Amino acid sequence: MQKQFAETTLELIQGDITKAEVDAIVNAANEKLIGGGGVDGAIRRAGGNEVVKECDEIRARQGGCPTGTAVITTGGNLPAQYIIHTVGPIWSGGDADEAALLASCYKESLQLAAENGVKSIAFPSISTGVYGYPTEKAATVALETIRDLAESNATMPELIQFVLFDDATYGCYSDALSDI
Ligand code: ADP
Repeated sequence: MQKQFAETTLELIQGDITKAEVDAIVNAANEKLIGGGGVDGAIRRAGGNEVVKECDEIRARQGGCPTGTAVITTGGNLPAQYIIHTVGPIWSGGDADEAALLASCYKESLQLAAENGVKSIAFPSISTGVYGYPTEKAATVALETIRDLAESNATMPELIQFVLFDDATYGCYSDALSDI
């Protein structure tokens, strides 16, 4: 499924983000940039030692990556040239600024993408695994944030993919994309 927002094509696909043939993939990382499970573990395993080393250097330099922010490394052994690591909020009921922090992940990732000349990028469903953000709500925040950025004058990739791992997550994002 896909939809056009200004010059940007937004596409939903089901699959494994480590295989995405795009300029940059986004990782749902943690604040310490130390390997976790889920998509983070898969990206680190596929990216290899170079990615782990660059994350270690960022941690040594600036302590990590606070929630709602993003950092960039090379893609190591991945088909993608870059990995943008962003840290989504942990869901704690919805009154702890979760939506604003999640929107900030998408904004900061796309800002780093623009600064690095990225023309195509793939996102996973940030925060909806171990971090427990309800997927329907996260999908709406993600897609509306991207739509609003594309329709402002922000520099955007030509292609933004969501690579969604399972049927249920794909279903939530397609419903949300139909509704906006
Ligand atoms: P978070 O800690 O931000 O919640 P998780 O990695 O636990 O991150 O989950 C985020 C989403 O990524 C979940 O929908 C999970 O199913 C999905 N996911 C796990 N592995 C992959 C993968 N290889 N490609 C794409 N998505 C994945």
